[in-house]
Amino acid sequence: MIKVTDLQKRFNDLVVLDGISFEVGRGQVVAIIGPSGSGKSTLLRCLNLLEKPDGGLIEIGDATLDAQQYTRKEAHLLRQQTAMVFQNYNLFKNKTALQNVTESLLVTKKMTASEAETIGRSLLEQVGLAPKADNYPITLSGGEQQRVGIARALAVDPHAILLDEPTSALDPERVSEVLRVIKSIAEKQTTMVIVTHEIAFAREVADYVIFMADGKIVEEGPPHALIDQPQNPRTKQFLQQIG
Ligand code: ATP
Ligand code: MG
Repeated sequence: MIKVTDLQKRFNDLVVLDGISFEVGRGQVVAIIGPSGSGKSTLLRCLNLLEKPDGGLIEIGDATLDAQQYTRKEAHLLRQQTAMVFQNYNLFKNKTALQNVTESLLVTKKMTASEAETIGRSLLEQVGLAPKADNYPITLSGGEQQRVGIARALAVDPHAILLDEPTSALDPERVSEVLRVIKSIAEKQTTMVIVTHEIAFAREVADYVIFMADGKIVEEGPPHALIDQPQNPRTKQFLQQIG
């Protein structure tokens, strides 16, 4: 479960998150859509404290954090609840696909090499990359690198996975293989928040869609309502532009 209440974030004078509140039930997928600069990435980054929020309450899994006042222990616990999948994969270039996936198991979870390898190989299998376990990122396509990124996020068995435009850096012919993997993970009841421009995908996979603009939630609802019958003029305009 994720519950965000009145999240606030500003960069100097620029208000980027202006009182964001939403909930994601266990095993649910929430898609966040909205124009460039509306605060989508900042929102995801605040959820795992890659960006420091200025105010609000964040509850994820076992962690509760009051943005105005929290301990290092609370911050650590919150960070442990999520794993992030980035637009540009952010893989370790000097590590193989398998080593990218097992890194956190060895370092954070202190597993033995053989335990980590067993889990790593099974995760690579889940994303269709078992044969490429020993490849370095430079020898993988963008879609393959992103699938390694997803396997790496799954490795720590987080309460929720946060994906920030996971397909937007990919060549068009590589988008569907990554979306297929994300869909297969969603079907296993993984709690996910996904920022995406893939509206058709959001309609198919998300339980709930949030449309953000100017740091606020403008409209939200199940995909058949928000995407197919938007009520707010800004939502309508946005969907027309990208559709
Ligand atoms: P996009 O769809 O282009 O990825 P976004 O909705 O993810 O956009 P954010 O990256 O969250 O938008 O940025 C929201 C606003 O905050 C933008 O105006 C951006 O310029 C600003 N911003 C983001 N990060 C910083 C930063 N570290 N310092 C100053 N301003 C920032
Ligand atoms: Mg962004």
